[in-house]
Amino acid sequence: MPFAKVRTRIAPSPTGDPHVGTAYIALFNYCFAKQQGGEFVLRIEDTDTARSTAESEAAILDSLHWLGLNWDEGPGVGGPHAPYRQSERSAIYRERADRLVAEGHAFRCFCTPARLESMREAQKAAGQRPGYDGLCLRLPPAESEAKLAAGEPFVIRMKVPNEGSCVIHDLLRGDIVIGWDTVDMQVLLKADGMPTYHLANVVDDHLMEISHILRGEEWINSAPKHKLLYEYFGWEMPALCHLPLLRNRDKSKLSKRKNPTSLLFYQRMGYLPEALRNYLGLMAWSMPGGEEKFSLAEMIGQFSLERISLGGPVFDLTKLDWLNGRWIREDLDDAQFAGRVRQWAFNESYLMRLVPLVHSRVSVLSDLGPLAVPFFSGVVEVTLDQLLDGKLDRDTVSVALSVALGRIEGLRWEKAAIEKMLRDLATQMDEKLRDFLRPFFIVISGSPVSVPLFDAMEILGRDLCRARLRHAATLVGKPLSDEKRKLLKSLQANDAEL
Ligand code: GLU
Repeated sequence: MPFAKVRTRIAPSPTGDPHVGTAYIALFNYCFAKQQGGEFVLRIEDTDTARSTAESEAAILDSLHWLGLNWDEGPGVGGPHAPYRQSERSAIYRERADRLVAEGHAFRCFCTPARLESMREAQKAAGQRPGYDGLCLRLPPAESEAKLAAGEPFVIRMKVPNEGSCVIHDLLRGDIVIGWDTVDMQVLLKADGMPTYHLANVVDDHLMEISHILRGEEWINSAPKHKLLYEYFGWEMPALCHLPLLRNRDKSKLSKRKNPTSLLFYQRMGYLPEALRNYLGLMAWSMPGGEEKFSLAEMIGQFSLERISLGGPVFDLTKLDWLNGRWIREDLDDAQFAGRVRQWAFNESYLMRLVPLVHSRVSVLSDLGPLAVPFFSGVVEVTLDQLLDGKLDRDTVSVALSVALGRIEGLRWEKAAIEKMLRDLATQMDEKLRDFLRPFFIVISGSPVSVPLFDAMEILGRDLCRARLRHAATLVGKPLSDEKRKLLKSLQANDAEL
């Protein structure tokens, strides 16, 4: 039976900064649903309890609201299928997983992590494809029950055919054939009772009556598992449409090493939400008349899946800047422009974060100008001479910037953690803190004598700091001496192990 109504969804995992890729996928789901007179649902996929955070979820919700991509059902709005946060739905998945076991579509696996590890090692050594070898699949039922009764920890895995292939129909790509031999006996329920993405995603898409799944193409290889689960449950599978991934200019997958990927960066930089949304609409899609500047309403009016093109869309900041400039110049009158500036950074809450840093440093209010520049700028222009005017030589600055760029990633973004990271690095590099921090002062605030560095970094946010540090790292270049190259390698190797 065809679905009565078009219902799409975005299902982000709150495990980091809100990503432009999430906004892109949300935009297409939103436009398709609205164009079809349907509904757009937001679901939070937070079953990875170790990596999911409330801050990340809040930032994702805020950014989608900022972009005007409001959901009809989901957190904060409610709806007939609440709750919309998977961590609040675990009983539902557990019950479904148990049912799959009872019906013989899934089995309990008692293999210990150590056994799985040695199995993987052996497969690797034998040049075989890694995957579960099915040991517990062959466990006699009585033995499985006995282990269960004895309280042995277990996961639930799905059964998969061991020969033949699966045909996935994609609305953009047609039929995709994937051999079952490439599909692992996926864990559905983890030892802690939480579902994996695959189980929760399928169960929720069904229960939330999703008719069309528009998601990134990185999920194509998961589709056979999902299709099989729909069959096991006896449910109709929603239509699938895998959208091409956003790319860096060199066509590699969009990454923060080459492009800012966090929506918080675009907010901080003062892009207009309507311009960014318009730009995301140009990724993989185009207006029938080829217009490049269009509103959300215009995009909805013209939206059709047929107009999606599969060539990897390049996310290009220069083009975004051009489009943003057009929106600023063509669509805002002076009063509206002033309003946007106020919203962006000339607002009470932002000013009150700066005031404690500058208050004690001015004799007249106009001293504020130079001190405030870094807080109202994007990447602050500095020269190589400025960066190297302290005690540190070029190679040392290069190592310091490269290692710091790596270490800011995992950091909790608050003053004390930033301070500790930089202090530790100075100690590891055997440099005096004052000398060590000087180039950081210059690249973050444009001057060696300015507001306190760690506070400034906290206020500016990780993304803008990353962009400024990267700008400096590019100016300085890679370390040239063998000694400093080795130092860089050893510091980075340590980080990789953490
Ligand atoms: N939670 C998945 C993600 O973070 C959702 C993938 C899907 O749309 O099925 O991208």
